[in-house]
Amino acid sequence: MTASPVYVSTRGRAPALGFADTMLTGLARDGGLYVPAEVPRMPAAEIAALAGLPYEEVALRVIAPFVGDAFTETELAGAIERAYAGFGHRARAPLAQLDAGHFLLELFHGPTLAFKDFAMQLIGQLFELELRRRGERVTIVGATSGDTGSAAIEAFGGREAVDVFILFPEGRVSEVQRRQMTTPAAANVHALAIAGDFDAAQARVKDMFNDFAFRDSVRLAGVNSINWGRVLAQVVYYFHAAVALGAPHRKVSFTVPTGNFGDIFAGFIARQMGLPIERLVIATNRNDILHRCMETAAYTRQGVVPSTSPSMDIEVSSNFERALYWAHGKDPAVICGLMDDLGGSGGFRLSENAMAALRQVYDSGRSDEALTSETIARTFAETGELLCPHSAVGVAVASRHLQHDPATPMITLATAHPAKFPDAVQAATGIRPALPARMADLFDRPERVTPVPDDLAAIEALIRERTAA
Ligand SMILES: *Cc1c(COP(=O)(O)O)cnc(C)c1O
Repeated sequence: MTASPVYVSTRGRAPALGFADTMLTGLARDGGLYVPAEVPRMPAAEIAALAGLPYEEVALRVIAPFVGDAFTETELAGAIERAYAGFGHRARAPLAQLDAGHFLLELFHGPTLAFKDFAMQLIGQLFELELRRRGERVTIVGATSGDTGSAAIEAFGGREAVDVFILFPEGRVSEVQRRQMTTPAAANVHALAIAGDFDAAQARVKDMFNDFAFRDSVRLAGVNSINWGRVLAQVVYYFHAAVALGAPHRKVSFTVPTGNFGDIFAGFIARQMGLPIERLVIATNRNDILHRCMETAAYTRQGVVPSTSPSMDIEVSSNFERALYWAHGKDPAVICGLMDDLGGSGGFRLSENAMAALRQVYDSGRSDEALTSETIARTFAETGELLCPHSAVGVAVASRHLQHDPATPMITLATAHPAKFPDAVQAATGIRPALPARMADLFDRPERVTPVPDDLAAIEALIRERTAA
């Protein structure tokens, strides 16, 4: 394999790192996000050769150039194999057809029934390989509105050399989400219910990363969606789905239900590698800051309102910083300025040039609560497919987009299994989706959870105590 590629921070003030350090670090020490200095290109002939290959083989060919010599090909292939072995579908990421030219990419067959498993299962394997090689231990801390936390606990539970602490907002996650975090028995995972909302949980995690004394003493590592390893794992299914529909000989578009912009940004990386993606469509729920920004060039916070698609109820869309970095010609000084404005006045305005660069790649749309519910009902009536509310936001926005561009096949990402959000699905269709048989006993398993106050010192003390050898 080639030498290890270099990763740089979007804010330009943190050291450049190789793949393994980038993955283990998570957030750069200057508050920025790591991106590859150069995105490797995949020639059309190599893309064409992916057609018909098993998911794991596609993953190996897409991921290897970003990893370089950080892992041997045998190590990487083994990690990929183990990461997806527990999925409940042989195809890993199967496509279903909804309508003429409209396809659904089902990303919910992993152990916690959301697309987060694709990335988390893989970095769980890669963390273990790398930490064993280094003889080191790390403490993973993350905040979750539900799906990231369960995916992290499932991926890192029982692994050597890591302790995992997940902060979730008490009383604000669905029962399935909570039980997926509180019922795993591994001693190295800790579900912490914080007395506060998701913003509070995320703010305390950021505080811990900015407390460098604490960060270094417990060797903090981050697996939130800004972790480059997670973005990279998600690039794979764009290739796998596009070649199934005729790429590189035919262009395709994708619609992605979006919150923190990690999933859709992986599509941008696929496009930069050479996958012929016509359009990446940002689909938001009623919390539409990204859609408003695409329409008006102003990124302005208005306050988050709860929705039936809680994993997209977000206003500080962390990975959007990576998109802005490319839209501004990879100039870290501009990014520092924009992020200062966001911290100071709660928003920023983008230049015409930056908007033109974004609009070359991305379109956007929003689906409010009524349209989302209607879409769940209509899709079920017309196709028999039960959509979770996040996926329904995507399908609603994609259907509108298809009217403008019916000639390009559209692939909408289905980000969670309907059984993860049974109340919204039942309200729309009258049908309560059942959990897959492999997790049917979820409601019978004992729960283990530690309540914590919204207080940095108290949370740090708890983590210190539980990680002391
Ligand atoms: C995390 C999540 C999203 C949003 O993904 P981002 O990468 O944050 O944009 C959408 N749907 C579901 C079900 C999720 O768990």
